[in-house]
Amino acid sequence: MRARRERRFGIRARMFVAALLLASAALLSAGLVAGPAIDAWLVDDAQRQLEDIARVAAAALSAPSPSGLEARASAVAQASGARLTLVAADRSVRVDTGGEDILSPAAVEVTAALSGGIGRARRPAALTGDETLFVAVPWAGAGDAGALRAARAVAVVDAAQAALRRLLLVAATVGLAMAGLIGLVAALSFARWLGSLVARVRAAIASAHGAEAPESVRVEGLAGSVGRLARELERSVSHLAQERQRQEAVLDALDEAVVALGPDGRLTMANAAASALLELPHDAIGRPLVELVRTPPLVELVRRATAGAPETISCRLIGARQRDVAAHAAPLAAPGGVVLALRDVTELRRLEGIRRDFVANVSHEMRTPITVIRANAETLLDGALEDPQAARTFTDAIGRHAQRLDTLVSDLLELARIEAGRLDLELLPLSVPDLVRRVVEAHAPMAERRDHQVTVDVPEGLRLVGHASSLERVLANLLQNAINYTPPGGHISIRASIEGEHVRLEVADDGPGIPLRHRARIFERFYRVDPGRSREMGGTGLGLAIVKHLVSAMSGTVGVRSAERSHPTRPGAVFWCDLPRA
Ligand code: ADP
Repeated sequence: MRARRERRFGIRARMFVAALLLASAALLSAGLVAGPAIDAWLVDDAQRQLEDIARVAAAALSAPSPSGLEARASAVAQASGARLTLVAADRSVRVDTGGEDILSPAAVEVTAALSGGIGRARRPAALTGDETLFVAVPWAGAGDAGALRAARAVAVVDAAQAALRRLLLVAATVGLAMAGLIGLVAALSFARWLGSLVARVRAAIASAHGAEAPESVRVEGLAGSVGRLARELERSVSHLAQERQRQEAVLDALDEAVVALGPDGRLTMANAAASALLELPHDAIGRPLVELVRTPPLVELVRRATAGAPETISCRLIGARQRDVAAHAAPLAAPGGVVLALRDVTELRRLEGIRRDFVANVSHEMRTPITVIRANAETLLDGALEDPQAARTFTDAIGRHAQRLDTLVSDLLELARIEAGRLDLELLPLSVPDLVRRVVEAHAPMAERRDHQVTVDVPEGLRLVGHASSLERVLANLLQNAINYTPPGGHISIRASIEGEHVRLEVADDGPGIPLRHRARIFERFYRVDPGRSREMGGTGLGLAIVKHLVSAMSGTVGVRSAERSHPTRPGAVFWCDLPRA
């Protein structure tokens, strides 16, 4: 209903009518206020004129003159156009140019003048019945006194009023016409401005919709359209914000560090991995890359990519973390700038290094026994076979080195099996005293040969969860090492105790111990503190690596420390491992 009315009266017509109504209302209220005021003023003015006339007449009639009072009064009345009445003190009419000879009792103005004041009144004249204005002033003649009254019909004032009203009407009509004209001009220019606003709103809605501008956008529905546009914008903005959050979440979830740079080389985006890898400060966005990254090859890579050449390099980042990275930079087509992706390859490099070292170590470990075996075999073939004594020595050496090769290969195979994760150990509650007893008994002859004193301190009934043969292998390796590396006559003790939720097993000796700088690497494959001694003892350098892997396969931890009460000249070593309590 409302919409239909809005369409019937255009915005221009409504503005024009509004301007006219406004002007009319202003003129009407002005007329309502001014009309009575002007009437009152006209009456007041007429009374003032009558008072002046009465005074002039009173003066003219007071002076002695050869002409009679009546003639003088008529002359003044004629000249002024007012009716004059001269009244004696006894209210008798001496002269009246209007022809009345008895004073009306209603003439209160005369009463006021006789008592020395100025009297005013408005009433119909007794003689003609016309509405009349009366003003009376005191009069004094030669030995006589009274009042002089001037009167004039109100009709004279009415004529002036009518003339003034006509003038006002003309002025109002002209004013109204001008207001209408100004209203029309204002409505036209406002409508033009609104038209362009509507065009813009339509274009904005069209671009928000990605389609044609809706026909419903008109001046009349502008408020609704602007509201719709605002909602449309709000939706777009929140959609964009969501999209941005999603992109940020995706980028932050990436392992790869991603950095975007503007055409001016300033950072516009960095995901979480990039912030961590490049050690970016929290206010990095908006700052030039050269200020944030101090690795020259990376800065150079970005410079070349900015010039349009995508490229990949490997380098080490200069910074507290010293990470090795593979960096790829490519120019961004649309907004300009560069996107830089970095992959942390430090771990990969480390593993590559380990693999390289491992191959080198294995070859090295194998070369010695193989060389010995070959040399001995050749010597035998060269004639030593004829000499039974020599033949025995050489075949003995061949046997020992073949044994060493065998041990090395089985250690390697075991390690490979554990590392491949194929070691699916069935973990069961085990008696610690039984286990320790078995291992100690197996190594007793060896310990005896080296004159070591082995003590066992394990509480009876202590149980842990583990895999029997693996745990035996662990303890055997540790005890074997203690026997091997402790000089003859040393003390070795095997202890077990409860540590919270774990059982701690310790193999302590008073041998040379493990210097602090070697402790971090002692559990690595082929890592030896004293390679000469290790080979001499038939060690493969794999024992502790196997220990570490087996213990972690049983959900335990392993470590080494110095002995508390050691030999006066030797610090001693304590190898420990924690395994879950049964
Ligand atoms: P290896 O076959 O050489 O004994 P391990 O892995 O068992 O290999 O031990 C690595 C190295 O740790 C040894 O070569 C030795 O230098 C050192 N080591 C191990 N146990 C002891 C110990 N109880 N006292 C001193 N050094 C030890």
